[in-house]
Amino acid sequence: MIDSKAKKPARERRTPSSLKETLSKMLSNPGPRTTRPKLATRLKSAENLLTWLMGLIVVCAIFINTETRADFPTAILCIAVLLMAINLFSLGVVIVAALFGMSMLTSLFIYHGGFESWNSTADFFRDLGLLAVVTLLALRCKKTSDGLQHRVIYYSGSQQLSQTGCMGFRSGREQLSWSDQSARIYEYPVGVMPTLSMILARTHPADVTLVQTAFEKAARREPLIEVKHRLLMPDGRIKHVHMTATPLHTHLGYIDYLGALRDVTASKQAEEALCRAQTQLAHVSRVTSLGELAASIAHEVNQPLAAITSSGEACRNWLSRPQPDLVEARQSLERIISSSHRASEITRRVRALSRKSDPLRQNESLNEIVHETVSLVRYELAHHKINPLIELSPFGAQVNADRVQLQQVIINLIINACQAMDAIEPDARALKIRSWVKDNEVVLEVADRGPGIPADVLPHLFMPFFTTKESGLGMGLSICRSIIDFHEGRIWATSAPGEGSAFLFALPIRVVNDSGFAAAI
Ligand code: ADP
Repeated sequence: MIDSKAKKPARERRTPSSLKETLSKMLSNPGPRTTRPKLATRLKSAENLLTWLMGLIVVCAIFINTETRADFPTAILCIAVLLMAINLFSLGVVIVAALFGMSMLTSLFIYHGGFESWNSTADFFRDLGLLAVVTLLALRCKKTSDGLQHRVIYYSGSQQLSQTGCMGFRSGREQLSWSDQSARIYEYPVGVMPTLSMILARTHPADVTLVQTAFEKAARREPLIEVKHRLLMPDGRIKHVHMTATPLHTHLGYIDYLGALRDVTASKQAEEALCRAQTQLAHVSRVTSLGELAASIAHEVNQPLAAITSSGEACRNWLSRPQPDLVEARQSLERIISSSHRASEITRRVRALSRKSDPLRQNESLNEIVHETVSLVRYELAHHKINPLIELSPFGAQVNADRVQLQQVIINLIINACQAMDAIEPDARALKIRSWVKDNEVVLEVADRGPGIPADVLPHLFMPFFTTKESGLGMGLSICRSIIDFHEGRIWATSAPGEGSAFLFALPIRVVNDSGFAAAI
């Protein structure tokens, strides 16, 4: 995958301040839109020039018209000037143009002595009234169109700020429509007529089916369409987008959908960076725990090594007899082989715990993970004079998990329980590790008989850097929570005064073996 940060176009890296400048430019100059393609901008300038020329001709015509007493054509010409001014100038200029037209009409009326006849006086007031009405309507229209223009600018500015474009499509149709921001997200020129094929051309090949399925849903007139997918830009950059669409109305048997398209590349990258940081932190914490467990691990490895030595000596004795006992010697050799297998299994588990790798989730048996973990901390438990009671669910729940990460959680909970029980008499110490299946979840509980946790501390336990220990870092439970979150599970603690505390986590079950219970979830 090519790093999507590498070749971002300048437009995408636009800072909020530069966007602010663009917006203020758009607002102060509500003329031709900055986002229009060059050809459209040139056409608009030509159109403006033409309107100016027409305006000039009309003004000249008014002055030529002063020679006659035709007030009505004059009023019509004034109205024409007014209507042209609406498109070109601000509200103030339109008002000035209207007042100018009215004073022109009045001057002509006085200059030609129109007040001498009742008919021309009536004509004058009729024309003046007409002009006033048109002015009022024009001003209202101007205000509405200015408001509309401002709204369009804010709307497109907010789309740019929130990296969200909108699109409209009709069920089962190839042709679409979209906002400028959608065109920017897909990196097509603004103003190009969009089609479904254009969207598919930008879609990452691995996600094309996903997008096609989403548009097929629209053809089936489903009420909500939602798809998260990747885009593959021509220069190899990957973008992540989230599209949601909902039906707007029905037209001639078709359903028009309104969709919102959000560029979530930045948040996706932040999420990935956070996940990487959490993995690194979990690794550091794992290595720290391994340091704490060094004596326990050394003891675990030492046991099979001692067994190898004694079986080797026995084998030598059986062979050095005058009549070598080959059967006994073979049995000693079998014991040596199985002990060396055990030693290498222990080193494999320790290596797995210390390795730095991305989490890999696969079908795992939680019971097996618990047994393996307890065997790693057995010496540590013995050192704290704790004999654990293990009661695991007979259903052998399978979870979709990273084995090493779950081991890390269990080790952390067991070490915390051991440390909590240091404060009480060895005889009173007890550690229960239980698991059971409930509502499509498997729950694992690590309960101790320590001093318990005060009610006001309980809500802070899983916060980073929360510790009550002198040499504690306070990251253990916080890392446990991020690992369990990553596994789509839940972790929590309960404590009753004088009854110790219990830490529990629940994970969704993939498959439950042996009983046929909840075969596939
Ligand atoms: P640390 O062990 O470095 O303090 P953790 O995140 O593992 O960090 O634990 C945070 C705090 O939670 C501990 O300092 C302790 O106060 C409390 N805690 C954790 N487990 C237990 C337990 N089994 N009994 C009582 N308190 C516990």
